[in-house]
Amino acid sequence: MTRPAVVHFPLKKGTPLAASEKKVTEKLTKAAEAIAPIYEKQVNALDSQANFYPADATKDEIQQAAKSNSKILSPYTMVERDLKGRLTAIPYHIKFRDELLKVASLIEDAAKISDNFEFSKRLKVQANALMEGKYETSDIYWLSMKPYKINFVIGPIERYEDRLFFTKCAYQSWLGVMDKKQTEDAILFRDFIVSSRRKVLVPSEKVEFMDKIQIRVDDMLVFSGLIARFMFTSSNLPNDVNLMEKYGSEATIFNQSFNNKFNKRRYPIFLAVFEENFKNSYPRSLLRQGSLRNSYLHEISHPLLRYKDAEKRLQEYFPIFDEISASVLGVKACGSLLLKDIISQKELEAIMVMFIALAFCWWMQYLDESGVIHYAQGFAMALNFFLESGAIRESKGFSWPNFAKLFVSIDQLDSSLERILSVGTYEDAKKFTEQYGSLEIFERFRPILKNLI
Ligand SMILES: [Zn+2]
Repeated sequence: MTRPAVVHFPLKKGTPLAASEKKVTEKLTKAAEAIAPIYEKQVNALDSQANFYPADATKDEIQQAAKSNSKILSPYTMVERDLKGRLTAIPYHIKFRDELLKVASLIEDAAKISDNFEFSKRLKVQANALMEGKYETSDIYWLSMKPYKINFVIGPIERYEDRLFFTKCAYQSWLGVMDKKQTEDAILFRDFIVSSRRKVLVPSEKVEFMDKIQIRVDDMLVFSGLIARFMFTSSNLPNDVNLMEKYGSEATIFNQSFNNKFNKRRYPIFLAVFEENFKNSYPRSLLRQGSLRNSYLHEISHPLLRYKDAEKRLQEYFPIFDEISASVLGVKACGSLLLKDIISQKELEAIMVMFIALAFCWWMQYLDESGVIHYAQGFAMALNFFLESGAIRESKGFSWPNFAKLFVSIDQLDSSLERILSVGTYEDAKKFTEQYGSLEIFERFRPILKNLI
């Protein structure tokens, strides 16, 4: 399925924007739009390697070339053949200079209009980063900023379009305005999860970054480039572990793409895969809240699970373990919210039920976009693990999940996943994926989900 490379969202009624802030968002909307053509050039949907590498280059040839030129496998270069047919690497900011000039000047215009000093400086740093290829400087400044009403992210950020090495970043941009009420709820969750995490650490462990985990919920104005194609419901940056440990991280939940997913996919899936009697005890609003909290929990957990050499050890299995661990740890961490009466048992159940619905949601998204296979496989591991442990039983739709068993099973699964992420070998990850990662579990539900696929 192909989607447009730019998606606009109508501004929610009552969004508090001053006249100058409105002008800023107009300029930034244009800047976001102008990044889409670069993304299109990077990603040729007909070609499994995308255009990051020449279509005739093999994985082996690229790896060989990277031995003498490390820029070949830099996240920020296009690989091409020179006149003699050898592989060379061209930095994005040089390759796409003309397009980027236009983007940068629109961002600079917005910087001139903004009357928020910090945000204005942030925009100038972003424009400069695009032109110079110094993305780190921009990330560092952004993470040092106080949360601001308007949120604008632009650059080569996510690697999902590089099916060959999961290395090359594709351009994207988003623009949003903070949803204050939801952001406060997310912050409450964050505080509890972080403090419960602290309790399981030994005193010598360095975890200053835990104080620098920022989370926000935004009403979106624009998605452009990679994010418009994938329509993520949330994002967590920076991807660089070293930067994250030093400067912290910021997660964003995207209100409209979440609502869209909930209405079109997650809730209809819930209705399709659970038994009648069971379904009736969960009102829609409770499930929506549980599902939104799954998104918070996932993003808050991500930075708690960054292990420095995990990517190197686990290679192509890394994204599978990275994503599913964040979802599983998030649900497990709700135990401490339940103990403190921050959430009720029913609310916790809604979170777990919607976790299962989310698993099917990722599988369906994978049927549309093969690039998200690591999410589908991770959730397949979780479902197969739950089934094997007897936490859920399958017959004509999932029968009543046993919540006590499910919570214990989530705890066990979390231990296995974290163990592999923190000290596991490539073989460990491969074995676990082979044992639990079969997508066959989803296929069995294809008949009852056929109207949604
Ligand atoms: Zn994630």
